[in-house]
Amino acid sequence: MSDRRARPKPVLCALALASIIPLSWMDLSLPRGTTTAIGYCAVVVLAVTACPPRFVIILASISSVLTVAAYFFKPSPQPVWVWSGLVHRALVLAVLWLIVVLGLQRRRAERKWAETAGRLRAIVETAVDAIITIDEHGRIETFNHGAERMFGYRADEVLGRNVSLLMPSPHREDHDAYITHYLATGQKRIIGIGREVLGQRKDGTTFPLDLAVSETRLDGRRIFTGILHEITERKRREEQLRKVIEELERSNVELERFASVISHDLRSPLMTIGGFVHLMVETGGDAGAGDQEAIAYVQQAVRHMDRLLQSLLEYSRVGRSEMKFAPCDTQELLRQTLANLKATIEAGGATVTFDPLPEVMADEVRLGQVFQNLIENALKYRGEEPPRLHVSARANEGEWVFSVRDNGIGIAEPYQQQIFEPFRRLHPDESRYQGIGIGLAISKKIVQQHGGRMWVESNPDRGVTFYFTIRRSDPPA
Ligand code: ADP
Repeated sequence: MSDRRARPKPVLCALALASIIPLSWMDLSLPRGTTTAIGYCAVVVLAVTACPPRFVIILASISSVLTVAAYFFKPSPQPVWVWSGLVHRALVLAVLWLIVVLGLQRRRAERKWAETAGRLRAIVETAVDAIITIDEHGRIETFNHGAERMFGYRADEVLGRNVSLLMPSPHREDHDAYITHYLATGQKRIIGIGREVLGQRKDGTTFPLDLAVSETRLDGRRIFTGILHEITERKRREEQLRKVIEELERSNVELERFASVISHDLRSPLMTIGGFVHLMVETGGDAGAGDQEAIAYVQQAVRHMDRLLQSLLEYSRVGRSEMKFAPCDTQELLRQTLANLKATIEAGGATVTFDPLPEVMADEVRLGQVFQNLIENALKYRGEEPPRLHVSARANEGEWVFSVRDNGIGIAEPYQQQIFEPFRRLHPDESRYQGIGIGLAISKKIVQQHGGRMWVESNPDRGVTFYFTIRRSDPPA
């Protein structure tokens, strides 16, 4: 980038060149040529400021030749070897060339400085980041394009105003005090350190940014330069990553617990099989009715193992399969579920009531599975009285809270978390309550895949209420 001052001015150059002719004529006419020496010097000074370096050297050379020539060819000849005349001419030449050398050096330095300043300006203006300089009173002195884009202000709207207008409260109110404190004590909080801060756009929205501030002295004044880099996207990714890590940790813990439960539950039928097979080997298959009984136990244990493995498969399938989110009328879904369970409901003399239920974004088949599990449980874990169930939903912040209340046998508080673990049953006696202990674990997993939570609470009178939430807006990403 060139500077206007360094650009040659042709008119002035022509003037400088033309001035040499009358100067030379004057030199030849005047007795000692002293005044013309000043003229030559003035012409060279003019050329140094306005003409290209090569032109300056040519002009200085012509002036030098004419100065020397005039000494010898004056019309009123003087003695050729008058020392004072020679010294005078030599001095003129020395001054002339000193002006040329110093003038061109200065020009070169100016050009370099202009180039550096231009390059810096280009960098500052094309930077994606915001670069803002302020004085020691916090007044904005420069505001680059990056800053205009980031904060939504034009430079002319903010120049001269206090930089605190780019910060949200309470930083806005604290900033002046911070600068005053720093100027008085030299204690730094940001300068030379850098940190994450909040910025405020013209429209009032706030956003996170990385701020680095440096301090310079310019003409005895202290100037602070801030480089600001918006980190909204980085923060969003960090947050996403944090959630993924949390989720991974959670599922890791779940997996470990799951593995220990599974190995325990699968071991018991295996032990049964092992025990009876051992017995049969011992008796050599001669135990008659005893063998028949042993075989029946082995078959029962095998069936149990098969059911465990089937449920395990079902549980892991829920975790792996893609959810098909679509608008889902939960009231209609409940009606279908009740229709499926009509026979059980009637056989148990149960009454099921429900409030108006909302439409949500959900995987209808999976959500139907949740309703079915909860209602089946409420019918199964009944007390002496006929089961009374009530299903409802209430709006909470950004979610629907569904509930299924029963008047059954209830669940003691210490077990209310455990029942959501796979194969955790509070009533292992299958002759009374049939089941394998996977329904709630599957239901909870389905709800989590909808971005919701599931829990149970004891009712004040009898029974329990199961709750689960489903987001009111879109399904989880
Ligand atoms: P399952 O019913 O096959 O045992 P679940 O996972 O559905 O498996 O339930 C786990 C355990 O939670 C049950 O064994 C039972 O002890 C308890 N439970 C579930 N629902 C209820 C309920 N409505 N009332 C009392 N206990 C319940």
